[in-house]
Amino acid sequence: MPQRTFSIIKPDAVRSGLAGTILSEIAKAGFGIVAIKKQTISKHEAEGFYAVHRSKPFFGSLTDFMSSGPLILMVLEKENAIADLRKLMGATDPAKAAEGTIRKKFATSIEHNAIHGSDAEETAAYEIGYWFAGYELL
Ligand code: GDP
Repeated sequence: MPQRTFSIIKPDAVRSGLAGTILSEIAKAGFGIVAIKKQTISKHEAEGFYAVHRSKPFFGSLTDFMSSGPLILMVLEKENAIADLRKLMGATDPAKAAEGTIRKKFATSIEHNAIHGSDAEETAAYEIGYWFAGYELL
């Protein structure tokens, strides 16, 4: 059974012209694109998306960054999509990310780390519903 996950190409990567390269890596890894859109999100929308991190010291900076320019919102699909995308992304901190991962290659800091991917089935379902309407997911 294919599984769906939610992903963002973050504003740092879009600004650096890396969206196409990252999308190509995602496609090469066997993910299908269920839905995709380029959007600039508001600070308020970023705060809602990252609400789980509200108490962290980096919350203000993270939500400023995520609302600083266009990003690419995506719903991706394949067998084992959630775990496989996390593996393709690499660790949050690019200094700790494995060789060949997207964050190792393209992230510039622990915050400006190029890509987001859901970390579990429940978060994937919440995040897909946060950014996409049902009619966009057919
Ligand atoms: P992820 O699941 O690997 O994206 O990591 P988390 O859910 O822990 O954090 C969400 C996002 O917050 C990360 O992708 C980073 O953009 C940012 N972030 C995480 N940890 C830190 C930190 O220690 N400092 C800063 N400035 N940003 C962080």
